[in-house]
Amino acid sequence: MIDSHCHLEYKSFNKDRDEVIAAAKKAGVKLIINPASDFSSNERAFKLAQSHKRFIYPCAGIDPISCLEQRHRVNELVGYLEKCTAIGEVGLDYYWSKEKQRQADNFRMFLDLAKEYEKPVIVHARNAMKDTLDILEKSKAERVILHCFSGSRADAKRAQNLGYFVSLATNICYNNSKSLIKVVSLDNILVETDSPYLNPLREGRNEPKNVSFALEKIAKEHDIPFQKIEKITEKNTEKAFGL
Ligand SMILES: [Zn+2]
Repeated sequence: MIDSHCHLEYKSFNKDRDEVIAAAKKAGVKLIINPASDFSSNERAFKLAQSHKRFIYPCAGIDPISCLEQRHRVNELVGYLEKCTAIGEVGLDYYWSKEKQRQADNFRMFLDLAKEYEKPVIVHARNAMKDTLDILEKSKAERVILHCFSGSRADAKRAQNLGYFVSLATNICYNNSKSLIKVVSLDNILVETDSPYLNPLREGRNEPKNVSFALEKIAKEHDIPFQKIEKITEKNTEKAFGL
């Protein structure tokens, strides 16, 4: 299994991070993609990855809400942008902010950086799927991972036609997303926990080993064996991030 999106550098793992990583490995997690969120998380994610090489893959960026305050610090990220597995998470979030124009400018700036550094981009889109896809399409972004996908069936089809990867998170275990799961093609599907968020059982903190809950749900909806969807999502993740 691969957890294609989690935040292990968060404070909520400070007390037992090593145990969480060991538990993930024991459960069969092969690797973890760890995006940055705010400016300071870049350094913490890279430090963590440094001591877990070939298991934790760090990404560089500033999420859309933090970027409204921290855009002036993007030029300090150069070292991370060069070394990262992907740029992210970046995107649009109209749930927490209605500053659409500034968010769009910041998002386009990161898409330009993704081209400059030849990196895939992990996209966060909350209540903003149409604008997100419009910007991505217009910018001719090629290597795109739509994280914690929450769009409509039509959005999923559009994203897949554009060649984007669509990541389903452990919230599919409690959302009524049956029809959405089926519309995500097995060529484009990834899975993630978005830990510490989105615990599949809605019992406190989430962690990477729980990515199995998302896989089980997808296996059931597609009526295929768990091992098959496990292999498919591993291959897709490796392809999406060029691992
Ligand atoms: Zn995230």
